[in-house]
Amino acid sequence: MKAAVFHSPGKITCDETEDPKIEAQDDVILKVTSTAICGSDLHMYSGGIPQARPMVMGHEFMGIVEETGSNVHGLKVGDRVVVPFPIACGGCFFCDHDLPGHCENSNPDMYGPEGGILTEKGGGMFGYSDLYGGYNGGQAQYVRVPFANTGPRKVPDHLTDSQVLFLTDIFPTGYTGVMWGELKGGETVAVFGAGPVGVMAAKSAVLHNASKIIVIDTLQYRLDRVKAQTGCETVLWKNAKDTIEEIRHLTQGRGADLCIDAVGFEPERNIVDRVKATVNFEKGSIKVLDACFSAARRGGRISILGVYPVNYDNFRLGQIFDKGLTVKAGQAPVHAVIDKLLGYVAEGKVVLDDVITHRMSLTDVAKGYEIFDKKEDGCVKVVLDPWK
Ligand code: NAD
Ligand code: ZN
Ligand code: ZN
Repeated sequence: MKAAVFHSPGKITCDETEDPKIEAQDDVILKVTSTAICGSDLHMYSGGIPQARPMVMGHEFMGIVEETGSNVHGLKVGDRVVVPFPIACGGCFFCDHDLPGHCENSNPDMYGPEGGILTEKGGGMFGYSDLYGGYNGGQAQYVRVPFANTGPRKVPDHLTDSQVLFLTDIFPTGYTGVMWGELKGGETVAVFGAGPVGVMAAKSAVLHNASKIIVIDTLQYRLDRVKAQTGCETVLWKNAKDTIEEIRHLTQGRGADLCIDAVGFEPERNIVDRVKATVNFEKGSIKVLDACFSAARRGGRISILGVYPVNYDNFRLGQIFDKGLTVKAGQAPVHAVIDKLLGYVAEGKVVLDDVITHRMSLTDVAKGYEIFDKKEDGCVKVVLDPWK
């Protein structure tokens, strides 16, 4: 089959690889009909998330069941499904507590309670390095889906792939950022990042009846799009100080009730940021997260959706304490929210496919990564067709 294979940072190519096989009796093999490139994939592309051996990329995918193990209930050959990006057994302590990203059974070699940098991670993920289970991903013609009694969700025939594909990751992720904010309606939400995750967070803030949504990015074209899609206000990030001032100005001087970090550890960085990271043995920068702490009101909330893979010195604990902030972070618990969100899509309460700017063949995946990474050609989201 054809698949997008990670070889080394900056090198992901469409190669001919082995077809996946059923390995456990609760696996299914999925014929992938649509797959997308995620901002998280860019952290592997940059080398920020390390990976030594080649592997098939991709954790945003959907398709048609091609083959089932003998112990798969509720799915049959021909069913059309979307698949949550965390791989979760459905039966362990964490799965029982709606924390599929922390599943005790899907990442046996690397799993542990410590949450270390290169060891003791959480549950497995598709196509996301050996740290997360070493599973091949779905930027491919076929993919093995383990624990298939737990993850895949059937989707109604009348909804197109583009309408439901983002239920695998970015919509549940953006939604989770808002859900963690425990909004009651009428709040102000500041979303840092107008990439696919930030856009979905802004859409989710609309669903939660936020009274004001402010989206911040360094790229004007992304701000223009999200403003047209959600009616949000926008702030073009030039530096942290001005951005924070502008957000305070828009929130009666207090700051936002909820700040969502949808950027992560690889924001736009200047030379000072790069030197700081080298001196502190850190990866990337936490400047966007710092801005979230400053731009949140006293007693406010912070949702960290953007990925931070290591620990950072000068973390603003004193500010968090003084302002009484509540901080939540981590992988989105997709399994816990996907059914509700599929309902929203089916009812037409939310539109997801307007985030797509590029549709390409899987054979052009190298180009897809390049333009998404460099934010070229007005790119926000690349969807790949494995069969064209
Ligand atoms: P993306 O790279 O397209 O989006 C990041 C955005 O941040 C870009 O638009 C970029 O211009 C903007 N940005 C850069 N510097 C900035 C700054 N100083 N201030 C404001 N904005 C700035 O990627 P994405 O797909 O939207 O993903 C965003 C983050 O979310 C990534 O770190 C990704 O790994 C993470 N993610 C997390 C989960 C989860 O479950 N928690 C799921 C999916 C993605
Ligand atoms: Zn993702
Ligand atoms: Zn589990």
